[in-house]
Amino acid sequence: MIAESMKALVKGSSVIRAMFEEGNRLAKIYGAENVYDFSLGNPNVPAPDEVNEAIKNIVDEEESVVLHGYMSNSGFEDVREAIAQSLNKRFDTHFNYTNIVMTVGAAGGLNTILKTIINPGEEVLTFAPFFGEYRNYVSNFGGKLVAVSPDTATFQPKFDEFEKLINKNTKAVIVNNPNNPTGVVYSEDTIKKLAKIMEDKQKELGIEIFLIADEPYRELAYDGVEVPYLTKYYNNTIVGYSYSKSLSLPGERIGYLVIPDEAADSDDMKSAASVATRILGFVNAPSLQQKVIARCLDAKVNIEAYDKNRKALYEGLTKLGFECIKPEGAFYLFVKSPTEDENIFCDTAKKHNILIVPGSSFGCAGFVRMAYCVSYDTIINSLPHFAEVAKEMGL
Ligand code: PLP
Repeated sequence: MIAESMKALVKGSSVIRAMFEEGNRLAKIYGAENVYDFSLGNPNVPAPDEVNEAIKNIVDEEESVVLHGYMSNSGFEDVREAIAQSLNKRFDTHFNYTNIVMTVGAAGGLNTILKTIINPGEEVLTFAPFFGEYRNYVSNFGGKLVAVSPDTATFQPKFDEFEKLINKNTKAVIVNNPNNPTGVVYSEDTIKKLAKIMEDKQKELGIEIFLIADEPYRELAYDGVEVPYLTKYYNNTIVGYSYSKSLSLPGERIGYLVIPDEAADSDDMKSAASVATRILGFVNAPSLQQKVIARCLDAKVNIEAYDKNRKALYEGLTKLGFECIKPEGAFYLFVKSPTEDENIFCDTAKKHNILIVPGSSFGCAGFVRMAYCVSYDTIINSLPHFAEVAKEMGL
């Protein structure tokens, strides 16, 4: 009796679910330490101590009825103001609490902003490879996700194709920087080119096109690489941020949207986003976590642990003959499959108790994603098994 639309969605999510079940099955047979599960982007680095301290202190210090009660759908004003000031300090922006809408993670934020702006039939552009859930988030509101094909040499945006794909029906462009699944970071130069194309197209077509910056990995950038703050380059930018990865809080479901005053119809957008959080059923972001965030704006997870994993896995795999670009951000490696059909690579790896995700889930066949948010031991112990996979696949 489930809805027709859900039948396809359930079928579509079976790859990840099957992988999760396979991981459990293999762990029961061989022991969890002998299964090398690179399938999930679930942070393995603990949340900073400040987070747990803040939770305890807030519960002791704040008035229960206020702390656990409803508030404005956009969130507590003091929390939003604290976030705005923190962004202003970091990025030289000019936000205040009215520009911030607290959300239920990045997923909640993206659904909120898409609900706010998408009319049925409108298109949302993104660059392959991309986080597969974008398809579902956009179709939730009758929109159509259109992907620019991947440049598999660099995983940087293909601007010629992008320009051609923009049309009167284009309502938004989603950019994910640093990127899941490639770990690529778009430079300031790249963002300037993107902004210029979008500005020109807005003028040519006489429409507003929103740039949605999906930024759950903003703080996970290595070797001192800069991640540009997109509102500074393009007025119609909406930022979607999340603490799922930056503070290792994915289960707590907390993030925010930034709707700048410079964005078209900014006041209407802010009001509509606030209604959207309510009618999508989130109502408001979790109240305790909002308060926690306000006290942990400068807290950081141990990013060195991810960096160590990044180097070990990248060096280990490339020595074995696997090809991939060295990621500059997030915690993923996007590795070229030795076979055209990457499912053969995934199946071969599975025979050696290694779980990896096919690139087709991210709109980029012929590659696989490996999430290195696992223990360092998992990486080191997996390498002899990768060596066997390499041999079996003729590398
Ligand atoms: N966007 C990207 C690119 C992601 O990788 C993820 C989660 O992995 C999300 C959004 C959703 O994040 P959240 O857990 O904050 O909803």
